[in-house]
Amino acid sequence: MFYTILFATVLIVVALVKYLHKPVERCPECHTPRESDHPICPCGYVFEFPEDDAPLEYGDPD
Ligand SMILES: [Zn+2]
Repeated sequence: MFYTILFATVLIVVALVKYLHKPVERCPECHTPRESDHPICPCGYVFEFPEDDAPLEYGDPD
């Protein structure tokens, strides 16, 4: 019983750590971790934009 609880606790902790510790995207130029939503690195490198489901709008189709 004790080991079951211990095992469950370890699993939860590992899941939490993985969830909170997302892999950080780094700049290939200067290896600086990308800041949350910043599309441009302090060194001037432009990160690729994530592909969303929403299509890019190129203005009115009319
Ligand atoms: Zn950089």
